[in-house]
Amino acid sequence: MSATYLSRDFRRRLVHVAFLGISYFVAASLTVAYTRFEGGVAFIWGATAILLSDLVVRPRGEWPLPLAICFVAGSAATTWFGLGIAASLPFAVVNVAEAALGALLLRRYVANCCHLESIPEITAFFAIVGLAVPSVLGGAAGLTAHLITGGPFLSNWLHYSAGHALGAITFTPLLMLARGGDVSGWMRKAEASDWAEVIVLPLLVGIVAFLVFSQTRFPLLFLPFLPMMVAVFRLGRLGAAASIIFLTVPAIVATLNGTGPIGLIDGQNGDKAQFLQFYLATAVLTILPAAAELRRRKQLFASLQEASALSRLILDRTGDIIMRLDVDGVIRYVSPSLLAIAGYRPEDMLGQLPHAMIHEDDVPEVVRVHRMALAAPNDTFIVEYRARRGDGSLGWFETHTRATIDQQGTPSGVVSILREITRRKEREGALTRESLTDPLTSLANRRAFDLALDEQIARSRTEQRPGCIAMFDLDHFKSINDRFGHVSGDVVLRAFSDLLRSTLRTSDVVARYGGEEFVAILDGASLEQAELVCERVRASFAEAPCTADDGRTMRATVSVGIAAVMPGTTADQLLGVADRALYNAKANGRNRLVLAA
Ligand code: GH3
Ligand code: MG
Ligand code: MG
Repeated sequence: MSATYLSRDFRRRLVHVAFLGISYFVAASLTVAYTRFEGGVAFIWGATAILLSDLVVRPRGEWPLPLAICFVAGSAATTWFGLGIAASLPFAVVNVAEAALGALLLRRYVANCCHLESIPEITAFFAIVGLAVPSVLGGAAGLTAHLITGGPFLSNWLHYSAGHALGAITFTPLLMLARGGDVSGWMRKAEASDWAEVIVLPLLVGIVAFLVFSQTRFPLLFLPFLPMMVAVFRLGRLGAAASIIFLTVPAIVATLNGTGPIGLIDGQNGDKAQFLQFYLATAVLTILPAAAELRRRKQLFASLQEASALSRLILDRTGDIIMRLDVDGVIRYVSPSLLAIAGYRPEDMLGQLPHAMIHEDDVPEVVRVHRMALAAPNDTFIVEYRARRGDGSLGWFETHTRATIDQQGTPSGVVSILREITRRKEREGALTRESLTDPLTSLANRRAFDLALDEQIARSRTEQRPGCIAMFDLDHFKSINDRFGHVSGDVVLRAFSDLLRSTLRTSDVVARYGGEEFVAILDGASLEQAELVCERVRASFAEAPCTADDGRTMRATVSVGIAAVMPGTTADQLLGVADRALYNAKANGRNRLVLAA
């Protein structure tokens, strides 16, 4: 830090403090010279606001200089214009102490004391500078006045308190906003039209106040509230703070000069003065909180707009559909993505049930999940279902659903996030089919057969439905491979599977159980019917030769074991019974069928 910098900083501070002292002197002189009633204390004391608004932002260590300067300025003003030299020193002490106490309390109890941003802050501000501090120091001032002039203690106390309270709440807000940087902040952002408003609106308040207080015919005291409220709505706290001054100054000047509607009051000058103070205090108490509340709402509105812009952005861009349904399942909101994903216009769906879009088989499950979500608001439920798109095509959708809660804690509906899963479902379906199909013959494989057999056995139990299984094993297949080669053996396997498929009903499950063994479930067939069908397979196979890859003719035969599905048996037992029948067919010479006993 260089010496030049130090001295420049010191000079700047000196100029600032000198300006403070001069302002304090002018304000004190004006109020003492022009606002004293019947030789008592000043009717309004604005000087404290000047020192107070300086002290609240100044580091405590720098307080002595401004306090000393204002002490000198205050005693000079009182000496020249007021009660004389004897009274000036104690009054100057009381006045400076008032500003110091006010600044201490504001710093201690009002977090953002310079900005008057909220109703609690403004309430605390009024309680400190408009009530507590003037009342306490009014006692000291009343005593001083009593001792020096012999005037009554009580009325001097009251007048001092009221005058200082009025001065503080009239001038401190604007000065604090200026010292706290709100005014310069506003100026930085202001455009030409803002400047026009900030000049015109307080001026309008001043003109209306002047008109109201320059006549004595009508008690138009309510009229200035109109431009004041406009100033508050347009300019916020700055408008309120400036309006207060533009109302107070003409009102006091006029009333002290004996003009204005306050003169209509029937009473002593003191009564009139008190009524004016009451009137002005009411104006301040009306518009400052209104300005703070307005600011709070503006901020709230701005943050709401920000939040809703963000959620709109998310809702517009998301690849999912977001839906809000009421407790009855009626669509109350659906995001614009519905159109791109499902081909419906969101506005057409409002007020509708989604059922019309959902595949009828899946509606009960979707409704069940909706009810479950309402019953357990802390859980998210997932359901997959088929739904019809706007163009009529079916697709698979997955919905994550969670209940919304109203202020009483009862479910008010659900929010659902829908995602199209058609491709996933198709992939899953293809994988499932692949895992259940035999690649050589495209018949069901052993796994698929085992699943189908379990279902058949369950059905035979619940529906008492007859059914049989038939087990086919090609005869001497090993020698076919040996003679014609493995590739030609595959030709025989495919020929046999085609024969099975074409001879059995499409509803019958036909599977390659392994190697050259095949099985079929003949649903609804008795042993006799099964025998008939299987005999046709055996005979056809024996009669229809295949052609090997070298053009030679291959002949093959098949043996068959047949067993009826019994309600009490397990799949293993049933397969064992059919296998024994097949074994018997082989043992009895092959190319034949045997019914299990
Ligand atoms: P049996 O009449 O007693 O059933 O005699 P088999 O020769 O048919 O019986 P075995 O179980 O001894 O032989 C079955 C043969 O089936 C052995 C194997 O090489 C053949 N095989 C199994 N899977 C395939 C296949 O996928 N392709 C071909 N070409 N042959 C297969
Ligand atoms: Mg075999
Ligand atoms: Mg065999």
